[in-house]
Amino acid sequence: MSEFEKFKVGKPTRTRFNQSCKPFSNVRHVCHISTAINIIQDHKIKPRLITDKSKLRSTRTKVCWLSPNEWGIGYRYGNVSFEFNIDELIDGKNIYWIESIDYDIPACRFLITNEEKPNLKAYKPKLKNGPWWYNQENDTHYFNGYYCLELMLEEEILLDELLKLEFVKHHSSYCARYRTSPKKCNELGSLGAKAGSLFLAKAVTQALDLSLIKDSLLEEKGEVTVNFENALAYLIPGPFSKLEYNNVIDKESDAVKPIVRGILNSLALDEYDEAKELAKLLDSEEKIIETSFKLVAELMEYQDVDKLIESVYEM
Ligand SMILES: [Zn+2]
Repeated sequence: MSEFEKFKVGKPTRTRFNQSCKPFSNVRHVCHISTAINIIQDHKIKPRLITDKSKLRSTRTKVCWLSPNEWGIGYRYGNVSFEFNIDELIDGKNIYWIESIDYDIPACRFLITNEEKPNLKAYKPKLKNGPWWYNQENDTHYFNGYYCLELMLEEEILLDELLKLEFVKHHSSYCARYRTSPKKCNELGSLGAKAGSLFLAKAVTQALDLSLIKDSLLEEKGEVTVNFENALAYLIPGPFSKLEYNNVIDKESDAVKPIVRGILNSLALDEYDEAKELAKLLDSEEKIIETSFKLVAELMEYQDVDKLIESVYEM
């Protein structure tokens, strides 16, 4: 009996949810904000050396981590989720069983690679004898949701294949980057919307080109996804509505845009008081919101700023 057989999927049910046999079509790579910005700049996810306990660690294999599991309790890998179609990722590649790791929820790991690895145990999802099953009859992948399915792709992933970019909750006590000292992580416990607003503020201050991944933030009809909308809603903090605006800078002035960029820079640096001081030079919260959304829309090459504002504030 192979090691993976003890994690075998259960029976799929038509009418109700079955944790031991969960269908999936997409997998996600989740990371911290700074890594996400690098990924977007490179337009690809680069494989990295494995840093935790794995038998592949000593072989210096470099992989990109992906998983279909969703963690309502929060992700220990960070706040930004890049989602891809599983069939696109595994097309024409070899799949090998690597190991199970005895975490609170055991992890079942597979290597997906273009190379032949005769020393590793080949895995055939079609056989339905382990935690990952591909049912040819209905062209659907399933995994055993009582375990964490971890896919290690030994290849870079181009963002051309990106389906969805989402902001997710970071776990409140575990962090994969700071395993032994999670409190060092600024994003620990941070909700998706809050992290998304921080991502957008940093994107503006770094002039990050979001045009190539624009579709991953929008619905098919060009509407903003709820997830992206929530991140925008947090971009300018609620207490800004109560500030005393001194109208030092006229709302038509060319100085408004650089000042709002400065506000976003202060927020990205967690310098909230500095952001407020800059804000008070302007005439209203509305002007700050409108201008900050314009700055985000510019990065995306998204034309309809009014639609962006309406979707969040219904002004
Ligand atoms: Zn973290």
